[in-house]
This record gives sequence, structure tokens and C-alpha cells, in this order.
Amino acid sequence: MKLLPGIHLAVMLMACLYISNVQAQQEFCGTSHHSQNQILKERLALGQMPKAENGGIIYVPIQIHMLLTDQGNGLYNMFSLEESMCTLNNDFAETGFQFYMENEINYIRSTKWDNHENFDDGIEMMKTNNKPGVVNCYIVTNPAGNCGYFAWDGDAVALSKSCLGKTTHTWAHELGHYFSLPHTFFGWEGTAYNYSKPTIEFQARVWRPIENVKRDDCTNQADGFCETYPDYISNRWNCTEDRKSNSPMKDVNGDEFYADGSLFMSYSNDRCMTRFSADQSEGMRNFLNTRRNDLKRTGIIPVSLGTIDRTAMFPPDSSSVPGTSIQFNWPAADGAEGYLFQLSRNASFTLPVRFSVLNTNEITVDNLLPGRTYYWRVKAVNRFEFCNPTTGTLSFSTEVLSSVDHEISEEGPIQILPNPVAGKGAEMVIIQKDISTHILMVTDQMGKVIEHDITILDQDKVQMRLHQSLPGIYLLRSQKENALTTAKIVVY
Ligand SMILES: [Zn+2]
Repeated sequence: MKLLPGIHLAVMLMACLYISNVQAQQEFCGTSHHSQNQILKERLALGQMPKAENGGIIYVPIQIHMLLTDQGNGLYNMFSLEESMCTLNNDFAETGFQFYMENEINYIRSTKWDNHENFDDGIEMMKTNNKPGVVNCYIVTNPAGNCGYFAWDGDAVALSKSCLGKTTHTWAHELGHYFSLPHTFFGWEGTAYNYSKPTIEFQARVWRPIENVKRDDCTNQADGFCETYPDYISNRWNCTEDRKSNSPMKDVNGDEFYADGSLFMSYSNDRCMTRFSADQSEGMRNFLNTRRNDLKRTGIIPVSLGTIDRTAMFPPDSSSVPGTSIQFNWPAADGAEGYLFQLSRNASFTLPVRFSVLNTNEITVDNLLPGRTYYWRVKAVNRFEFCNPTTGTLSFSTEVLSSVDHEISEEGPIQILPNPVAGKGAEMVIIQKDISTHILMVTDQMGKVIEHDITILDQDKVQMRLHQSLPGIYLLRSQKENALTTAKIVVY
């Protein structure tokens, strides 16, 4: 008898967990029937437009609003944001649209908006913060339980931090709505198609006239495009290799078809989606030229981004660095307006030490731990180009303090003559066993490498001249394979 309440409790707990998991599951898109109806109505009201040819690249200004909690937590990974923008522009390449950041990211602290469970709060967020003449995009933790949505009443899109990234097409899908595209299955939202039921019976339940294989009245059916195929699937689905639905559907005439999962405006999985159709692209260009012509810009000249020379970054990859305060620096990249800098305790960057958005190509980080390995990477950024690669991951180790103390002592194995050395010329002779075969490096106290010349005098003796010789304490590192010795050089 005593066991029973415990079992009940366990079962109840499991049930609660199960329910909360189900509730936490995200829907793909929360763009309402109302919002889709409005965009469709607006586009159809444009009437027969002159054909909006794809006449090259149209630069469209985007405004990113980054939502944080009241305390300022929850920043979305900026490296991932760059990848998401890269994917967005690739997804829109065929349309001619390329999005760029006309203004800086707008950071907004509001737990209520960052984690909004209903659309009213989201629309309030949009109406309060929208900027004029740009595509307003809100990156939030929870857009009302969806991966994203476009709200006609808020005139903006909201996107979930967890649904952005290199391999997802949520952003393209929501901006498709923003530029007047309904779902390819428009009308079927919330209605599950069933092959065993005559399709005509669904007409009373769906929002729009059902589109058929014989598309005789297609401008008045579903998404209003005759070119996109019929589609009745309103939950997320996986496609076959040719990006079609797994099982056939039957239209009101009994004609069988498979839904086209290659379209961003369907609900197929991200790996299926690859394109907007030609008519959808033209529809978006028409919409930009008319209803959204406040987004049009002239004379935009994009700035292309060069790469950072990885071999000239400091500290060098796989190096050992004295001290626990390091001045990281790297060669400037052409066209860069800033740099993303990330320092972590592991190579997957999940143990962050520092993340900074910089407008210079250097940063000093203090209070690193001695005797540890750190990983870091840098990405040059500007407002036009998002697909340029990062530097890749570099690592370095901080030296163990006790050994540094020992090696710097006067009894250490390196002899420097003279030391202290006069700044003018800063020439000295360094004596150590086999030093002529060692790799020598000199750094200042911030860890910056000081250039120098070496003349070998004999096997155990070299002459060194420092190129920079401001008064101060410098660190000489003499390395042979894994054996490292260090010594202080005092310049006066
Ligand atoms: Zn949608």
C-alpha cells in the first residue's frame, strides 16, 4: 500500500514532463490567416503589373532587433547570426534581393518581448521598436511558440534564436511572407489532409478554394500562384530525394499529385527547401516596387570583405604564451568595419571566456589562468558580406607560472650580455647550450611579438638586435621542440 502513492507520483511527474515537452515544441511558422490574407489582398490589388524582370541585384536594408532579457542575457551567437544572414542571402539570390544592414543592430532589453507567448505582445514589440524604411526583423527566444512569424499588424517578422543558423530557411520563409507570399498550402493551416476522405469534403473546412492539378482557376485558389503546385500539407514534413511528399494526395477531381517540398513557402523540412519559384520571385519584386517601395535605395555600392592572414595572428596557432594578460592582434582585413572575437576554454566554443564585437583589430584579455590551453577565432564583418569565412580556430597555452619563475631566475640556463641593455641599438649576446638551433621569440609584457635580427656567433652563442627598444621589460623565449626556457630582458 505504501508504494502506491509513490508510483502515482512518479506517473504524474512523468505525465507532467511529457505535457511540458509537448508544449515546448515549436511550430514552424505562426503567420496567421489574417496576415496572409492581407498580403495576398494587397498583392492582388496591384493588378496586372508590368513584368518585374530580375534586373540584377537589389540591395534591401534590413534592421536587426536583438532581444535580450531584462538583465541583458540571451545574446544570440553573432557568428551564427552571420551564417544565418549568409544563408538568407543565398536563399534570395535568385530573386535578385540581397539584404544588408543599413544600421547597427538594435539591442532591446525586455524579458516580456524576448519570450512572448502571445502575438499581441509580439505586435506591441514591433509597433514600439520598428524603424521606418527598413525590413524590421526581431530575433527573440520565443516568438509565440513558433520558429518565426510575419505579422501584418506589426509589419515585421519575429524569429526564434533556436531556429536560425547556417542550415535553416526560417528567415527566408518569413521574409517570403513579408514580401506578399502566402504558404503554398494556403487555406489548409490547422486542417490535416486525409487521403481516404474525398478532398471536396475539406472545402468547407479550409480557408481558401482548394487548388487542383488542373489549375483552371489557380489565381483564386490557395496561394494565388498558378506555377506553384497544389499542396495540402500544413504540418512539417520530410521529403523524398526529389523533394516531393512521400505519399500522393488527391485533388477534388481525383487527380493524384505530390507536394513540392523544394519551395521555401511550403512546410517541408529545412533540408528539402531550396527555392522560391519564378512567379513567387516576380511577385516579391512587384511588391517591393509598389507596396514596399520605401525599402528601395539607389546608388548602393557594396563593400567586399578581404580575409585575415591567419599566419600573422598573435598569439600564433599552437604557441605557448608567457603571462596571463594577452594582447590579441591580427592584420586588418580589407573592407572590414569590425571584428567578432571569441575566446573559449574548448575548441567548440561552448566554454566562453570572452566574446567581443570590436572596431579595432586587437583586444587585450587579462586574468587568464596559467598552464591552460585556450581557443580563439576572429571574423571580419561589414554590413554587406556575411559569407566570408572566420579565421578558423587557433589555440595557445599559457605557461605554468612556477616554471616561468624558475627560468627567469639569474641561475637560469640563458645568459644575456649585457642585461640590462641600452635602448639605443638594443644589441646583446645570448649564451645557451645549442642556442643556434633554437627558435627564439621576444615579446613585450602585453604579449606582442618584437621583431629582431639574429647573428649566429657559434653553436652556443648568438647576437640579437631588437627592432623595437623602448625602455621596459621584455621576455625572451628559447624553444627547442618541447623544451622551452625563458628569460627577462631589461631595456633602459
Ligand atoms: Zn509561414
